[in-house]
Amino acid sequence: MDHVLHLKCLICGKEYAPNEVEYVCPDHGNEGILDVRYDYELIGSHISRESLAQNRDMTVWRYKPLLPVEPDAPVPPLTIGGTPLYKADRLAAELGLKHVWVKDDGRLPTASFKDRASVMAVVKAQEKGAAIITTASTGNAAAALSGICASVKQPNVIFVPEKAPQAKIAQLLVFGSTVMLVKGTYDDAFELCLQAADEYGWYNRNTAFNPYMTEGKKTAVYEICEQLHWDAPDAIFVSVGDGCIIGGLHKGLKDLLALGWIDHMPRIYGVQAEGSAFMYEAWRDGEDVLTKAPVSGVTVADSISAGLPRDRIKALAAVTETNGAYIRVSDDDILASIPALARATGVFAEPAGAAAHTGLVKAVELGLVSADDRIVVLNTGNGLKDVAGAMKSVEMVGTKANRVEPNLDDLKRVMKGIGD
Ligand SMILES: *Cc1c(COP(=O)(O)O)cnc(C)c1O
Ligand SMILES: [Zn+2]
Repeated sequence: MDHVLHLKCLICGKEYAPNEVEYVCPDHGNEGILDVRYDYELIGSHISRESLAQNRDMTVWRYKPLLPVEPDAPVPPLTIGGTPLYKADRLAAELGLKHVWVKDDGRLPTASFKDRASVMAVVKAQEKGAAIITTASTGNAAAALSGICASVKQPNVIFVPEKAPQAKIAQLLVFGSTVMLVKGTYDDAFELCLQAADEYGWYNRNTAFNPYMTEGKKTAVYEICEQLHWDAPDAIFVSVGDGCIIGGLHKGLKDLLALGWIDHMPRIYGVQAEGSAFMYEAWRDGEDVLTKAPVSGVTVADSISAGLPRDRIKALAAVTETNGAYIRVSDDDILASIPALARATGVFAEPAGAAAHTGLVKAVELGLVSADDRIVVLNTGNGLKDVAGAMKSVEMVGTKANRVEPNLDDLKRVMKGIGD
């Protein structure tokens, strides 16, 4: 990995060779998140915008020279990456905007953005010959790891809160993972997973602990910028739980700027639920994210429920260094965004995915975006992940199915009722 210069601690700035440390800065324990630093000159000699235009591999591996893996590293067979970026003109018009796109990562193989990170974990674990990979997750990171492991027959142990949505738990069981339903919150599951990895020597995928997850997640902005012909958007909206996705987007954009492939840094907007607004509060009040006490983390959007965001250093920098903002939205507004986004674009999002749309609506109200801004809304998870949440959302906006007897007369009666 000549193109990886070192791993840099985000707390003390100490630099480590890639093989010198496993996950975090030894001087800072679990908080010592490392950032992977690259030799962009070397990378630029292996990949260019022109070479990409000729590359027919539409998976994240089209960007392999920008990822922390060996050029000949074997990669899992699932098609991860290459998700659509839809121009959403009706959605834009409803908000008085002109240029809005929706990036639909609900289309990834296990139906959430987390595939981008979990695939990196599997490649890195197999590089090390790990017998078992483990992760804690609110559900999607687990489902992603589980599915990708199944594709390469890699044993894995998953820790999720017992209240995770059924669909996500079903994925884990179907893929054949060893599943631990933790009687507690995601934060409890995270701590137990760290202890277990330590105790049993398992390879640890945990978000904001394993430095390579950010690197997988950054591929989404490579795709967005390439899909926009390297004319970077002005603003990106993404929901935030642990803050690894938002940090990954920021990282990817910094890479592209360093390579000279884009000419400006988009403003990044992090969207949080009212009941899980650690990052929003820290940003608003200028609090130190390393000493701020955890919040309760309760929200209908389970994927962004995080009392103590694990990637909070990167998550704060993503907003402050790009002149973006954190935006806090209510659970009711998040639910309302599920049908609003779906009806304007045909994209069905789980609550945490729809929250990015809620954030855009709020940003318009707050005057944070202007009509001419080119804006990307990132859907991070498929609506089928949380059918209960979806049903609640349609109930809230008053959409009901009609009951009809199996004959035309009764249908006519019902149709008349609808016409009225
Ligand atoms: C994990 C997840 C998020 C939040 O990502 P973080 O890195 O935890 O901030 C948002 N939406 C969905 C659907 C997710 O699975
Ligand atoms: Zn350190």
